[in-house]
Amino acid sequence: MELVERDHPGTVRRHLSAEEAAAVRRFCGDGQQVRPEDVRLVEAVLEEMHDGRHVRLWLECDCVRAPGGRPRLTARMREDGPRHFVRMHQYGEHHCALASFRQTPEPEDVEPDDDCARPGQHNPLRPVGDALDYLDDLNEGAARPGGSTGSGGGVGERGRRLPRLGRILHTLLDDAGFARLHVDALNDKSRTWERLEAYAADQALSPQLSLSQILYFKPWTHLNEKMTEVDALVWPKKKARSALLLFVADELRAGAAIKKTSMGECILRPEKGIRAGGRDQRLTQPPYWVLGVVDRDRDGNARVREAFAQHAYSFARPVPLDSRYERVTLKLLFDVMAWVKKHGVDVTLWKPLFDREVRRTDAPSQWCRPDFELTFRSVAAVGVAARLHRIVIETMGADDPDYLERKLRTQEIMKRRGILIEHRVADDAAQKERDDAFFRRVAAKILHLAGVSQTRPV
Ligand SMILES: [Zn+2]
Repeated sequence: MELVERDHPGTVRRHLSAEEAAAVRRFCGDGQQVRPEDVRLVEAVLEEMHDGRHVRLWLECDCVRAPGGRPRLTARMREDGPRHFVRMHQYGEHHCALASFRQTPEPEDVEPDDDCARPGQHNPLRPVGDALDYLDDLNEGAARPGGSTGSGGGVGERGRRLPRLGRILHTLLDDAGFARLHVDALNDKSRTWERLEAYAADQALSPQLSLSQILYFKPWTHLNEKMTEVDALVWPKKKARSALLLFVADELRAGAAIKKTSMGECILRPEKGIRAGGRDQRLTQPPYWVLGVVDRDRDGNARVREAFAQHAYSFARPVPLDSRYERVTLKLLFDVMAWVKKHGVDVTLWKPLFDREVRRTDAPSQWCRPDFELTFRSVAAVGVAARLHRIVIETMGADDPDYLERKLRTQEIMKRRGILIEHRVADDAAQKERDDAFFRRVAAKILHLAGVSQTRPV
């Protein structure tokens, strides 16, 4: 195995030692037994490949001899996660242990998830690590009762299972940048779909297949037309032919997702129904993100098999949300961001779709998923490195008591991630007052942390 320069893949930076290569194969080969020293070796290789901001090197595998046809791995680092390997499917399949790939080895003792007993110690909800896993395995999916809910799902800190399709939706939105908004992007409403298209074009599922060939955004496209296109593609072995339809729906009504167009309503009715993410299952306040699986039934007819829906803030800024209560909070946060910008503080808003890690020095990491996070830097004096600050925002809606109790238990963990500020949302007359107080509190806290002296109160 060798490390090659990403910008000049013909240039070999260095060869991995036999120990390093074996460690990578044990770490990322599904079913392999990891040795204690492997972790350190793998982390060091990943650090060489990804400097924390950019990918510098790719790892080329020598399990295929043909020049130019060698499979590659790249390194990825998400906002909060550790560096990890990602297969680059456009360069072909491995003939070594990496043919069955896993991002990280399974933890030794995965217990049934029980966030009641040990808050924050559950198996964290993570993105789908490999674009090829967006597709169902053959003989899976369609034949599985209830659709794609089997392996590969995950349990969030909410204690609510996120179906596999939901995890794919969250991964797409997270990777394409819908769950993150810098204050300067608040007025830029046009670029999001372009970003999604660019992201899809860059994701390979095989040397012949990119995500942009199966992911589409126009619900009025005829299903037959789409599936005829899919039928003509060179398809990865062991995977079922299907397409993914992603759009923001105007309405969810009686098991159907509706998109209003100048030609009238475009109605999509998934055969196995629509599941919804988030804790607010009263899906009466659009818009909604909808991700549908389009495939053929047993008789070969094109159909929308199933779909997953998630609250979106608005058509112009479709930040995915867990509830309509969060929409109230988010509107205020946008106002705060615009206001502190005038004082020279640039805030980035994050909607965590996956669990966030809280590292501890002498204990295992804990995991939590706050409703929102705000990050910004001190308005630093010249020559001083600006410190990064984080505020954690929780929306306390009129939720069920179980949920609120669970939330209380994770508060301590969230406080270790950042300064926690809560916003209570209820459908009553006092909301305006609570909103004003929340605005003032968040704005004042940001200015204070950023080191902006206030001449007058917020
Ligand atoms: Zn290989």
